[in-house]
Amino acid sequence: MINSKTISRTVKDLCIEANLKLRPDVVKALKSSLRKETSSKGRNLLSILLENCSIAKNERIPLCQDTGMTVVFADVGQDARIQGDLTSAINKGVAAGYKQGFLRKSIVADPLIRKNTETNTPAMIYYDIVPGKKLKLTVLPKGFGSENKSKLYMLNPTAGYDAVVNSILKAVKEAGPDACPPYVVGVGIGGDAAKACYLAKKALTKPVNFLSDKPHFRKMAKELLAKGNKLNIGPLGAGGNTTLLGVNILSMPTHIAGLPVAVNISCHSLRSAHKSL
Ligand code: SF4
Repeated sequence: MINSKTISRTVKDLCIEANLKLRPDVVKALKSSLRKETSSKGRNLLSILLENCSIAKNERIPLCQDTGMTVVFADVGQDARIQGDLTSAINKGVAAGYKQGFLRKSIVADPLIRKNTETNTPAMIYYDIVPGKKLKLTVLPKGFGSENKSKLYMLNPTAGYDAVVNSILKAVKEAGPDACPPYVVGVGIGGDAAKACYLAKKALTKPVNFLSDKPHFRKMAKELLAKGNKLNIGPLGAGGNTTLLGVNILSMPTHIAGLPVAVNISCHSLRSAHKSL
């Protein structure tokens, strides 16, 4: 039996951990970019970003003032027994984490009236039923500078490989310097419009060097990395050959009449943390 108090405590801890400690794979990618960056301004900015990570971790302060909309992926084992209301346990954990961690509360209760809920809730929760009896919780605090650069392209079904690549590159070009590059690009291909957007966001929870689980999309991700890093956007938009830290593609079947391609960009401060109960 998984207790709702344990769920809330876990979510609280994950919110704080994700906001204070940059993921090790992201730190590694930033360090590797620093070695390869050819622009001195770019190298300087990458060093500052890495210093920011150390300060946040050592002084236990958030990596960025935008501590995000809290996205939670809950993989619920079909044989898991959960005591209490799972959604409210997750939201209680988010509220406690943002209070205890002194994280900025950024959620407004109504998109037009815009009154802050003061708890950073509701979280955006995506439930998946999976085999087994565990509950895996992944917290992804998503800053809106990068979320605002999300794109959905409903391509012609015969558009083909190059059109998909060009659409994703277009999204990166349009983001330009606005969302604190270098970026990690989450891509969802297939499904319906909503599922493609879900996959694009979920792709950001995979390791930065994941690329894809399918060979043709691994090839596409590598090509996008090479082309994206030639756009000369560079660290924080100051130019250089580090525009992308990673491109992760998830895909699924789709309809004969469509080819949905969703892009969810993350800034260099790609934060997530997970735990299984
Ligand atoms: S895009 Fe990322 S680094 Fe920039 S302000 Fe938003 S959360 Fe912070």
